[in-house]
Formats: sequence, C-alpha cells, structure tokens
Amino acid sequence: EVITVGDLANRMAERGADVVKSLMRMGVMATITQTIDADTAELVVQELGHRPVRVAESDVEIGVMGNEDVAEDLVSRPPVVTVMGHVDHGKTSLLDALRKTDVAGREAGGITQHIGAYQVQLKSGSKITFIDTPGHAAFTEMRARGANVTDVVVLVVAADDGVMPQTIEAIRHAKAAGVPIIVAINKCDLPSAKPDRVRQELLQHELVVEGMGGDVLDVEVSAKAGINLDKLEEAILLQAEILELKANPRRTADGVVVEAKLDKGRGPVATVLVKRGTVKVGDIVVAGSEWGRVRALVNDRGINVPDAPPAMPVEVLGLGGVPLAGEEMVVVDSESRAREITEYRARKKREAESAKSGRGSLEQMFKQIQAGEAKELPIVIKGDVQGSVEAISGALEKLTAEHTEVKVRVLTSGVGAITESDITLANASKGLVVGFNVRANPQARDMAKRDGVEIRYYSIIYNIIDDVKQMLTGMLSPTL
Ligand code: GDP
Repeated sequence: EVITVGDLANRMAERGADVVKSLMRMGVMATITQTIDADTAELVVQELGHRPVRVAESDVEIGVMGNEDVAEDLVSRPPVVTVMGHVDHGKTSLLDALRKTDVAGREAGGITQHIGAYQVQLKSGSKITFIDTPGHAAFTEMRARGANVTDVVVLVVAADDGVMPQTIEAIRHAKAAGVPIIVAINKCDLPSAKPDRVRQELLQHELVVEGMGGDVLDVEVSAKAGINLDKLEEAILLQAEILELKANPRRTADGVVVEAKLDKGRGPVATVLVKRGTVKVGDIVVAGSEWGRVRALVNDRGINVPDAPPAMPVEVLGLGGVPLAGEEMVVVDSESRAREITEYRARKKREAESAKSGRGSLEQMFKQIQAGEAKELPIVIKGDVQGSVEAISGALEKLTAEHTEVKVRVLTSGVGAITESDITLANASKGLVVGFNVRANPQARDMAKRDGVEIRYYSIIYNIIDDVKQMLTGMLSPTL
C-alpha cells in the first residue's frame, strides 16, 4: 500500500511543504499528490519526530464499528422523535409548544437555544428528545447518510385541512424507514376542525388508528391553544415502551451529528445525539472526517454540561472542522487513532466519490495490480511529433519497476490531439492517457470526466518516465 505525501502530512498534522522538504533531504523528489512507499514514509515520519505505526485497513474499521453490548448493561433511554407533515399544518408550532412542556429546563434556567434537537423532561421524570428540524427532507437526508436516529415519527395533520401531498410523503418516508407513526391531529381548537375526516383519509394510506381497529396511536391536539400536548407525550412514551429503547451508557460512546455549523466565536459546533455510551468533556472524538478533543458540551438551554448520555442532544465544541449532518461521531482512545480514522474515512470518501462519477477506473487498475491480479499498466500515448511519441513509447515499454514484475503496456500511440477514441480505449483497459505537448479536445475531455479516465499532460519526457515509474513502484509498496 502507498500513501500520498499530502495524506502522510495530514496524518502527522505536519505541513505538506515540510514533508516534501524532508523527503528532499533524503533524496526523494515528490510533490504533495505523489505517492511514496511505506519504507520511505516510515523514514519521513521518524525524521519529523513522530512514531510510525503501520495499520491495516481492517484494524481501522474495527475501531470505527465498536463492539456489541450485552443485555445486562442496557438501560432504557429516551425516545427520539421527528415531527413530519404537510406545510402549514403546525409542525413548527407543535415543536415550540412541546418544548415549553419541559419541567427540568424551567428550574435549571438558561435560555432556549436552537441547536437542532431538544429534550423535554415530563412531570413523571420521563424524557423525550425532539429533532428540531421538522419535515421529511432532513429525515431523508440523515437516512441517506446511514443515520437512523428517529425512533418515532409524529405525523402532524391539520384537522381543518386533512391529508395532503406532504402528509402522504411523510407516511411513505416513515414506513420506508420502518419507524412507527403517531398521528397528531392538530388545530382541533378551530370550529372547522374535522378530526374524524382525517382518520378516514389516513385509512386510504394504510394508517389505521386505534379507534378504527388499527394500532396507530392518534391524539387530537392544538399547538396554538396547548390542548392535549401531555396526551401526545404519553402516546410517544407508550410507543417508546413498545419499542424497548435501550442503550448502554457505560461504554465507548458513539452518536450521530444532527446539525453542524461554523460558529464565529466558538469554531466548529456539532449537535450530536449520543446513541450509546456517554460523551464527556476531554474525550477525543471523530465525527465524519473531522476530529478533535471535546472542549465543551453545551445543552439545549445553552448550559455547559460535563457529559451527555444516550439521546441527550448536546453541542460538541472542539472539532477541527464542521462535519455533515447524519455523520457518525465516535469517541476514540488517542489522537493518533483519531487521525487514522479520519484519514481512513477521507480515503473511503474519495474512493466512493470517484466510483460514483465513474472516475477511478485507473484506481481500480491500481488495486488489481496491488492484489497481484494485474501485471501491467495500460497507457495511451499521444504527442506532437512522431519522434517523441516513439521515444516515450520505447522508454515506457522498457520500464519495469524494480522488485516488481509490473510493466507498462502501450495501448496505442500516435500524433495529434487526444480524442474520444483514445479515451474509449483507455477506459476499456482501465488505463491512463498521456499527452505530450498536446491537449485533449473538448469532447474527449468531457468523456474522460464522465468515464473517470485520467489524462496527464507533459512537456518533458523525463517527467513522464519518472511519474510512471513512481506509479509502478508505488502501486506495489507494502501497507502503511
Ligand atoms: P408548519 O409549516 O407545519 O411548520 O406550520 P406552522 O407551525 O408554521 O403553522 C402554520 C400556521 O398554522 C401558523 O399560522 C400557525 O399559527 C397555525 N397553527 C399551528 N398550529 C395551530 C393550532 O393548533 N391551531 C390553530 N388555530 N392554528 C395553528
């Protein structure tokens, strides 16, 4: 396995230029984007005063996934609720009204902060966590990133309006996620309210409420007049009981980012819902491709707290950058571990992105060569004059990496601009295209972009030879 100079610099938290300089002192000429082998990397790491550790990818993955909990460590945790429904049916009003039912917050003081989620404590002592972004857009986006934080969906339907397109959408999304729905029939304070009509309409979407022989809980509420909010909360807790929501609060914590931003004064701020374990100030955390030491945890009342147990929303301060909503956050045992994981994730992300855009057929080839499944690197060569094209082809074909048997295979070579047929050829063999003093025409450029074929331009023959040599050796370096 190889590592680019830039990646290595990131892992050590050193400047790329310093790593390049250090390499130069060792007689290795490489730019930030070029790859170096593991032995060279190890030397540079030592030279810069770090301790080199070689890790296998699987090792990193285990660290990210964590282990499973045993039943006796599990304790009940509050449910996490997302409010969905048609526009203007009262989602925001309901979230505001429910927020005011919190008894603990009133005693503890503090000013309501919109951090993306909040928790209410009921008179009974039970707690409910609400995601503060209503609607199915956020819900779907989070799911798309693999985050299923929502335990229960509260579907708001205005009693004076009935089931509308976004109501149906919301039902679909909740059902697709396998999340139970509780129906809040809102605006029941209005004389025009027809809650029974709502129940009837819901039938057509396979949502059968209890009163009609089904098992879907429904509550007639008014967000505006504050009617039956306690009944709605009871229904949520009842549903939670059925779901047997439990988590082990005494384990290495992980959670999900529900919102994140760059705050002028406080730096990157991520609102996190802990899923398992307890996050504490001072913990080293990785969130998505960012990491940091938790400097402070701030709750939904703007109050600093020492730790956050499962389902308690908190703002996490201290990350190096802003993660994405829906990304996973994990606590790790050391900074070097955090770097490893973020680097690993960044690489996975790059790979996923290149796979998505079709890019990476060359990368695929590199992998095959690494795995010993391929023994040659296919190249298309185009140049401005026949003489140089021949010289390049000849030199590359003679090239065999030291200690390896991987060779260059020239797919075709010729004079003139890089055309679509060159791209097609390179793509079919998962190779790359080299242009010597020529460029690709616009169609070829578009095609290369679409198909993920790499085009490299050169004006010095030596640089081609050198780069290709590096590719051949780099591809076969041992794992770093
Ligand atoms: P959202 O688009 O679903 O978030 O809906 P909003 O919470 O913004 O509410 C839309 C409108 O309905 C606002 O003018 C609210 O004042 C009003 N509204 C919300 N809940 C109630 C209610 O329970 N009764 C009445 N009469 N109006 C309500």
